Formats: sequence, structure tokens, C-alpha cells
Amino acid sequence: MSTPTQTRAWVTRAARQAMALETVDVGPLGAEDVEVAVEHCGLCHSDLSVLKNEWGISQYPAILGHEVVGHITAVGPNTKGVTIGQRVGIGWYAGSCMHCHQCMSGSHHLCPQVQPTIVGHRGGFASHVRAHWAWAIPLPEKLNFADAGPLLCGGVTVFAPLAMYARPTDRVGIIGIGGLGHMAVKFAAAYGCEVTAFTSSESKFEEAKGFGADHVVSSKDSSAIKKLAGTIDLLIGTVNVPLDWDAMINTLAPNGRLHLVGAVLEPIPVAAFSLILQQRSVSGSPSGSPVAIETMLDFASRHDIVPETEHFPMSKINEAFARLESGKARYRIVLDADF
Ligand SMILES: [Zn+2]
Ligand SMILES: [Zn+2]
Repeated sequence: MSTPTQTRAWVTRAARQAMALETVDVGPLGAEDVEVAVEHCGLCHSDLSVLKNEWGISQYPAILGHEVVGHITAVGPNTKGVTIGQRVGIGWYAGSCMHCHQCMSGSHHLCPQVQPTIVGHRGGFASHVRAHWAWAIPLPEKLNFADAGPLLCGGVTVFAPLAMYARPTDRVGIIGIGGLGHMAVKFAAAYGCEVTAFTSSESKFEEAKGFGADHVVSSKDSSAIKKLAGTIDLLIGTVNVPLDWDAMINTLAPNGRLHLVGAVLEPIPVAAFSLILQQRSVSGSPSGSPVAIETMLDFASRHDIVPETEHFPMSKINEAFARLESGKARYRIVLDADF
């Protein structure tokens, strides 16, 4: 099938450089790939980390954007279950090998060859983006498409640990009420959990309750955190800054788990005895599998869970990155394609 080999895209040529609109030759469409016309694309903190090469994995020139909502405009001859015109989402990953142990057991996001959408692959701040058919996730009809983008990366990242480890009867703590954390509070509350939100920002206390938190505690107040000792079944860490980890781990009930999805670059000190005696765990996870994304979207649409968003036209992409970096965005930014 012949497809346009040129797209318009916001390209960054080197670390920390502003993005410029370019026409990019993308070559022929892969046999198992789909091409998606981008309608909206969320701006995630990971886009900023890759822009600044904070993780040392960035490849330039880069086209960022990995929370795509759009519709399929072309399909390769070996694609399955996708049709032209179908509305789909693409998140942090755009492909995986489809034959390894992880892919064959449904954990495609753990594939050794999993392809991040914005590292060594062209992302969604563009007129069109491509992905393997299995990673172009069909969007439920009821979903609010304009605001759904952040669910595809941030949403599944916080939903996956709830689906893996939480029961509706559990007490769940969400550390950090930002782009990830506010969605985590909404998911955990809809799931039926008793939710404690930890935030360093007093200005977010009331908002966190509005998202469904039963309790809000300052993450800077070690004495308030110590009072929660032994009460929380699952703590989900969404921040990328160091905290009083000792006090946080001690809020865990027996068999409790601290699960990290925020990329804290400083090592987290863990005393063996604080895990051993209460049989506690510390774990982490990256995004989620295609089925986890589909399940999350189904849950979000059933419970009317929508991220809080600020919209910018994609042509204001550099302003949008500055807004994200200022930390003032409430709570996720979505860019609307205007090519
Ligand atoms: Zn992301
Ligand atoms: Zn694989």
C-alpha cells in the first residue's frame, strides 16, 4: 500500500534545543505498521527528560510526543485487527518483537527489543506517527478524545500497579500529586480504595480531595508521615525528587509495597529490616502492555476518568515545554495538531 513518505514534524536537533517545524522523509511504511494522523498528543515529563537527555539515551534529531490520539490513515499488508479511519492511541512504546517470551506471555512492555516511541523512533509531535499494529490501541467510543492523550502513558503507568497489586479494600497512598499522581488518585478512588495523597504543595490539598483522595498529607512533614506507620497497603511513588524514604516505607502495613513509577535519579536507601520484619516489598514498572492500556482505557471510560489538562496548539510547542518545565501546569498538557 502506498503511503505518504513525508510528514510535517516538530524536530529537535540536539539536547535542550527548541523544536522547529520541518518536513521529514519517513520512507515506506513497515509491513506490520500503521500510520496514524495525529489529532492530539499529550506532553509528558518524559518528553522533557528526553529533550534534555537526562537519562543519557536520547537520539537526535528527535521527534518527541508519546501520548498520541489520532486515526489510522494507512496500514501495512501484514497488520491485524486495525482499519483505516479507526481511532487509536499510541503511548510510550510503539513496537516490540512479538515473538520473545515476554511478548508471547502478554508482557510486551518487558520485551528486550521494546521500542520507545520517542527514542530511535519518530514520535507524535507531527502530522503523522507510525507504530506496530499491536501498539496502536483502539479507543473506546465514549472516551473524551481531546483529553485522553495523557492516559496512554501517564495513565497506564499508574493504573498498571493498581491492577497488579491493589484490592478495592486496600488503603493506597499516592506520592506526588502532579501529572501522574492526580490520575493515580482518580483511578484508586474509582477502584474503591481508601486513598491518601502525599504532596509537597499545600496549594494542591483541596484539589487532591477533589480528585477523590480521602486524606492529604504533606510529603515534607516527616512527623505527619510517621503517624501513618503500618497503615498503607500500596504506596505508588510518582515523584522524581528524594523524600524521607524511611518514613514513607514505614507507612506500609505488613505485606505492603512501595511501587515506583516516578524516575527518581538518586538511589533510594532501604534498610533490610524495614522490609524483612513486615514482609514488605519495593518494586517498579514501566508503562504497561497493550492489554493493560486497553483495560485502563475501558476502566477510565466506564468511570468517566479524564486527566486534568491544559491545551496548546501544537504550533506553540516550545511555549508548552516551558510551561511544563515551570511546574505550573495543572496537571497535564495536551497539544492539538494544527499543521
Ligand atoms: Zn510519558
Ligand atoms: Zn518481544
